[in-house]
Amino acid sequence: MIITKEQFKKDFEKKMLKLYAQEVEDSTVHMQYFTLGYLMKEYISEGWAKTTNRYTKYGEKQVYYFSIEFLLGRLLASNLLNLGIRNTVSDALKDMGLSLKEIEDVEVDPGLGNGGLGRLAACFMDSMASSGIPGNGNGIRYKYGLFQQKIVDGYQVELPENWLRDDNVWEIRKSDKAVKVKFYGDAWMKPREDGSLEPIHTDYQEVLAVPYDTALVGYENKTVNTLRLWNAEVPNYTDDIQGELNFNKVLLNKREIESISEVLYPDDSHHEGRVLRLKQEYFFVSAGLQSIVAQHKDAGHPLSELHNYVAVHINDTHPAVAIPELMRILMDEEGMEWAEAWHITQNTMSYTNHTIMSEALEKWQIDLFKELLPRIYLIIGEIDRRFREILSSKFGEDQNQIEKMAIISGGYVRMAHLCIHGTHSVNGVAKLHTELLKSQELRDFYMLYPYKFNNKTNGITHRRWLMLANPELSDLLDETIGNSWRRNPQDLKLFKKYKRDPEIQKKVEQIKRNNKEKLAAYIKEKNGIIVDPNSIFDVHVKRLHAYKRQLLNALHILHQYHEILENPNFEMLPKTYIFAAKAAPGYYFAKEIIKFINALAEQINNDPRVEDRIKIVFLENYSVTLAEQIIPASEVSEQISTTTKEASGTSNMKFMMNGAVTLATLDGANVEILEEVGHPNIVIFGMTEKEVLNYYRNGGYNSREIYESDARVKRVLDSLTNGFIKGIQVEGQDIFKNLIDYNDEFFVLKDFDSYVAAQKKMEDLYRDRFTWNKMSIENISSSGVFSSDVTVMQYASGVWDTRIIER
Ligand SMILES: *Cc1c(COP(=O)(O)O)cnc(C)c1O
Repeated sequence: MIITKEQFKKDFEKKMLKLYAQEVEDSTVHMQYFTLGYLMKEYISEGWAKTTNRYTKYGEKQVYYFSIEFLLGRLLASNLLNLGIRNTVSDALKDMGLSLKEIEDVEVDPGLGNGGLGRLAACFMDSMASSGIPGNGNGIRYKYGLFQQKIVDGYQVELPENWLRDDNVWEIRKSDKAVKVKFYGDAWMKPREDGSLEPIHTDYQEVLAVPYDTALVGYENKTVNTLRLWNAEVPNYTDDIQGELNFNKVLLNKREIESISEVLYPDDSHHEGRVLRLKQEYFFVSAGLQSIVAQHKDAGHPLSELHNYVAVHINDTHPAVAIPELMRILMDEEGMEWAEAWHITQNTMSYTNHTIMSEALEKWQIDLFKELLPRIYLIIGEIDRRFREILSSKFGEDQNQIEKMAIISGGYVRMAHLCIHGTHSVNGVAKLHTELLKSQELRDFYMLYPYKFNNKTNGITHRRWLMLANPELSDLLDETIGNSWRRNPQDLKLFKKYKRDPEIQKKVEQIKRNNKEKLAAYIKEKNGIIVDPNSIFDVHVKRLHAYKRQLLNALHILHQYHEILENPNFEMLPKTYIFAAKAAPGYYFAKEIIKFINALAEQINNDPRVEDRIKIVFLENYSVTLAEQIIPASEVSEQISTTTKEASGTSNMKFMMNGAVTLATLDGANVEILEEVGHPNIVIFGMTEKEVLNYYRNGGYNSREIYESDARVKRVLDSLTNGFIKGIQVEGQDIFKNLIDYNDEFFVLKDFDSYVAAQKKMEDLYRDRFTWNKMSIENISSSGVFSSDVTVMQYASGVWDTRIIER
């Protein structure tokens, strides 16, 4: 959009008067935020209505991205950026004596996700709008987002994240678009006179799903897509014509109903089989599909062609009930026959797999499922029956094989199997991950449906993670290679030719230095720790999980500490180790690792013998907003998961784009980062995929042997339990047990030696400023393929078959 400073000032002043009956000069920053936010929504609304109408009018095929999480991050800055008015607004506010940065800091970060999966959904929303793909998000409007983390005495404490306590300026409640979702009751098939069967569902509980829409503004184009999040409410029983109002019952139900959209489950990569979670899943899926079908009919399109107008994407298995729910709508409500409904459903739906870890695979107890969703269970039963027929025709009487692949088996409904059978596309999120799906975890399904399997390597939006997070680097890119990279991120490769240019190298180094100073100031303010911006900033930020191996990093730091104590003249470049991570509240071991890191920090940071060669900082409450501050200031990117365990990772891409050098195992998208930058520009260590798979399959790993044969490992582990590190009596014992008595499931000790060597190599590279700056530039300029703009275009052409409206 185009607006002059003068016009904006007028609009802003007028809006402030209207909202607060107040002049700008007397306003608080809080008022300024809401004034600017509501004004922005007005600026967006015309384009939003136009986009929606255009999709309908021209019958564009639309994508609906179904995800139980959307980890958006703050929207004011990104909306200003994408509208193309951020500089004008910033200047105009400055003229009025106001600071855009301060105003932006008022916004609460809507934390409606745990980590990578929810953030991916958010990056895709930004990239779809910016690439002109007709795309919508569909999810839950949680009243409480992911808990806020406080660190108290080194321990994680969780506080509720009441992100809606003030107005949310970005959402619009659409009461007229509310739909009803049915739970519980009895469902059966009643024979009709002609012998056919009629589906009956009685005595159900009705929940009102009310949509709240948020605009998704495309980058300097005309597209404004929609994110629709559903709120669970009590239906208005006063229009119950039967007059059997039972107010007590209604009030008792109120709490139960509202709890559906009350709080996000705080588990990442772990499936918890609670009924409330299944309620959440069916709630947003049913509401979303009902509104999609209603819209399709309103537009006058025949239902038999739904899949030509609509693509529904299932982000991990949480929305898997979309498959039987669309069958239900098409058959029970629209009177379609099974065969046609199944054809449409399969061709409408596509599925992304996000993990191969068995504890994350969703399976629901039959009894629980049947009680909550009786009609959906009947439909899944029929899907399973027909699937077993296909399997029989393939495998004959091999009952074992059939049970292994069935959808309902062993007392459970298996959501991944439902997704593979019920969709036309199954994709992994990085090359290695997709290969593992095909050759290991989903091998049988790959044999059955080879044509469904494909890879779509994850991506990140370069608008949030480069343009907004690192404005100085963005300006330098404009000055050197022009600004085409903003629209076509793959043009970042033009920057490669400056990798040996001393002047540009110096500028890149200076920008990193400035970002480090800002982060150092933040660390001082939050943690009271003074860190030296000349030290190497080595950063490990992501969810706390054993497979992500924050423990390996911490044990190496402890090892370095021992080296310093043993040899006071121990030579090393000063290092600042930065951690940030939330642990699931019930994940005891992960919380113990947080305590361990904090105890280590307390001791090392305050030991004069260390002479500031090592500082450890644990920043609390990791979130999108915090990530935006940390990543541009990072030099070493810790991506050290146990090989085969990290499906893709996306923070690895964010770091690279900001010029950090990756210290990595050959896991997830690290493999593709290596392909892009080449061996000289990344440091790889650790077990290969083959070694890991071999140990998991055939056993033979014995962590105690390493403990007994490697003196460094022994010294480090003994200091966990002998009181050397203060304040971790319990945690130290438990970590020791996990690594030795329980044989170190994630090969921390197995990889210890090569990690120490890799850390040393990293340090040597850093000493040589020319080499390091060159590596940094190589990483920045190779990061364009990891823009989610590239990823969503691949989905659009390879999976969704949607047209690109504008570029
Ligand atoms: C990108 C991101 C993640 C994902 O990080 P990984 O290292 O890929 O697990 C998690 N949380 C936040 C806030 C992020 O921005």
